[in-house]
Amino acid sequence: MALKLYNDLTRKLQLFKPLNSPHVTIYVCGPTIYDYAHLGHGRSLVAFDLLHRYLQYKSFQVNYVFNYTDIEDKMINRANKEHITVKQLADRFTQIYHEDYQKLNYLPPTHNPKATGHIPEMINLIKTLEKKGFTYLIENDGLYFNVKKFKKYGQLSQQDLHELKAGARVDIKDKHSPNDFVLWKLEKPNEPSWQSPWGQGRPGWHIECSAMSMKYLGKTIDIHGGGQDLIFPHHEDEIAQSEAANGKLFAKYWLHNGFVTINGEKMSKSLNNFYTLRDIFKEYDPLAVRYLFLSTHYRMPINFTLNSLQSAAKSLDKIQNAYFSILNQKSSVKFGKKTLPLKRYYKQLEKALDDDLNISSALAVVFGLINQYYKYQSKLSPESVLQLEKFFQDTDKIFGILKHSREIIPIEIVQLAEVRLESRKNKQWSESDQLRDKIKSLGYEIADTKEGYELKKL
Ligand SMILES: [Zn+2]
Ligand SMILES: [Zn+2]
Repeated sequence: MALKLYNDLTRKLQLFKPLNSPHVTIYVCGPTIYDYAHLGHGRSLVAFDLLHRYLQYKSFQVNYVFNYTDIEDKMINRANKEHITVKQLADRFTQIYHEDYQKLNYLPPTHNPKATGHIPEMINLIKTLEKKGFTYLIENDGLYFNVKKFKKYGQLSQQDLHELKAGARVDIKDKHSPNDFVLWKLEKPNEPSWQSPWGQGRPGWHIECSAMSMKYLGKTIDIHGGGQDLIFPHHEDEIAQSEAANGKLFAKYWLHNGFVTINGEKMSKSLNNFYTLRDIFKEYDPLAVRYLFLSTHYRMPINFTLNSLQSAAKSLDKIQNAYFSILNQKSSVKFGKKTLPLKRYYKQLEKALDDDLNISSALAVVFGLINQYYKYQSKLSPESVLQLEKFFQDTDKIFGILKHSREIIPIEIVQLAEVRLESRKNKQWSESDQLRDKIKSLGYEIADTKEGYELKKL
């Protein structure tokens, strides 16, 4: 089956055809690591982690680059405020981001490069742009990219230069046009700087992603991703400088994830509704947070509320409990002959995800299967139980939401539960209650489901 992705460059749902299948190259713009990761960072991470995992599931060999921006105005301001170096600040937050992202159970990217490790690559790229006549120097300020020289400027954000001009902020008065952007900033006091042909200084923000994308993935890549807030100007500028330098398409497919709002409002420090991942992880299971991010289509906005988080936790519990129930059932003593058409469920799941990662349809397939499982639970054949276990494990390679190890419930408890199930079917309520108490006294809780039971350690 073939994957289709919505391409923001063409504004169309397109068949995904990698340049060099089965290899796939992806570059996703990561965070500027000057402060703790917030919900928006987590959302973007999970959105592209789903893509990464699904491509692997489909047997593509994925080279996935996710960068950290470690030199930028915000980095410098924060470091100066704390009287530490930018490098010290970056080291501290690299660790923090890594920890938080791990809690969200992401598949590590192939490369996780930082801007400051790629200054020579950026300088070389800027030199090429200079040679080809795309740049000009503003004295005592920096080297700029001249967007008028790049005819296709505005193609991603679908604006023409005239419109852009009206909306753009005129920050530097000597710029030839408002959308021109800095490639190399000349040194200012209290800022880290590097040697370059234009003088001591540091790179502008956009150039790092073009340079690192080319270094790790080549001049043309399959997918470039990031948050919707990056479409303009960051991604527009990445396209301009990359294609101006190489004379080649920069990225075939452009994917952007939607925003996170809090109770319907934009998340911001000034509105006092700003949540870091750490704040949330203190009170909620990071996997429930992952589930919340995952269960909304990547292009759609997520409205983060306490209710939405609680209902995400509930749904996740439902999947987790079904999985543990299946694991426990493997050691059951009683089986039937019923089988479930697992192949059909795999097909439906892939059909859903092939449609631009339609996650709600994909999860609906899983919940449909869970209902069928409980309906036939004790009547299932041993092979069918094993196939169910495999289904949950296979699909968790895509979702990444299950805890796989839990203390397996001892066989005596499972047997008591099965005797109790039998007594309930025969409406022997007092016996059933006694068995429940017995199971409880042995440290387990039994909950009744439509056609079976669920066991949990107390
Ligand atoms: Zn970037
Ligand atoms: Zn980017």
